[in-house]
Amino acid sequence: MAEDWRPRTRLVHGGARRSQYGEVSEALHLTQGFVYDSAAAAEARFREAGPDEFIYARYGNPTVATFEDRIAALEGTEAGFATASGMAAVAGALMALTRAGDHVVASRALFGSCLYVLEEVLARFGVEVTLVDGTDLDAWRAAVRAETKLVFFESVSNPALEVIDIAAVAEIAHAAGALVVVDNVFATPVFSRAVPQGADIVIYSATKHIDGQGRTLGGVILGPREIVRGPVETYMKHTGGALSPFNAWVMLKGLETIDLRVRAQAETAARIAAALEGHAALARVIYPGLPSHPQFELAQRQMGTGGTLLALEVAGGQDAAFRFLDALGIVLISNNLGDAKSIATHPATTTHQRLAEAQKAALGITPGLVRLSVGLEDPEDLIADLSRALDAV
Ligand SMILES: *Cc1c(COP(=O)(O)O)cnc(C)c1O
Repeated sequence: MAEDWRPRTRLVHGGARRSQYGEVSEALHLTQGFVYDSAAAAEARFREAGPDEFIYARYGNPTVATFEDRIAALEGTEAGFATASGMAAVAGALMALTRAGDHVVASRALFGSCLYVLEEVLARFGVEVTLVDGTDLDAWRAAVRAETKLVFFESVSNPALEVIDIAAVAEIAHAAGALVVVDNVFATPVFSRAVPQGADIVIYSATKHIDGQGRTLGGVILGPREIVRGPVETYMKHTGGALSPFNAWVMLKGLETIDLRVRAQAETAARIAAALEGHAALARVIYPGLPSHPQFELAQRQMGTGGTLLALEVAGGQDAAFRFLDALGIVLISNNLGDAKSIATHPATTTHQRLAEAQKAALGITPGLVRLSVGLEDPEDLIADLSRALDAV
């Protein structure tokens, strides 16, 4: 039975819908609309669509639904709504679940666009947002109050790799009646145990490890049917953030291999972290799988891994970091993550360029910090490339 399948079987067969042709590989239903047998059938479907009946691709599409069912089965949630990007998922979930007068508590260490949605968009509609140091449980306790509708955080923060205790924050939030919304990109769906640890809504940018080969944008909001098929779907289907069927098909094929890819990437990341820790050109190697990481034990308990990303603090600031980046031969200078190709990013001057200096400092985004997303290349080649570039600094 599908309910008994282990994760790797779910990733290959979950959510499958076969057409009358019995295709092996999932069909790409590249269609915005669907034909009805009669006017009365159209009326009936608009009144209430059955579980596998579709009206318009902004509401749902068979290829998109297959992706939603497959990722929900993996994550262990009742339902999922696929979105055009990770940010469409974050903004959609936050807008769908709050209204004027509500209060939201969020961890300060967030992706720049997430901060924009919280601090600018929600605030404009009368939602009060309190930002806290997500690793400080007392700060969460002090911030949560009766009007707190939800808490929001990245379970592992981008780019400084702070790990936030999902179970402990969920306990605090649930005691106040607040929903726990987790942006779980860095944990990946493979290592995620977010739901058993207390997350109510789990969000992924599918652009990252789910596609895994840097081709398409996408996202997904996962959670209980009552919420996802209720306020989330209603908001998303009327505001137009739907995932394209073509991108859903790419993501489906990505899910088939994600377990193998992400485990190999995490293993290589751990080897790189161990090989580079102590290098003279580095002030610090930040990797949640290294015992020197402040939340090493939490990362082991929460994800069972250090993940596929590390952050290197190059001694000597921006000039030294730039010399390191420019000396790389295999690792690309770019800004995606979770890709088959290893990618190095200088957050202070690119992804987090627009933050005020004080904010960068508070988030650990120093001039020497380089984020490294580990790909699928041979680990020895990557270690040689990184070591040679560090020697050149
Ligand atoms: C990339 C990313 C997003 C946004 O995803 P897009 O697909 O680029 O819109 C949100 N949160 C985190 C943690 C990310 O890394």
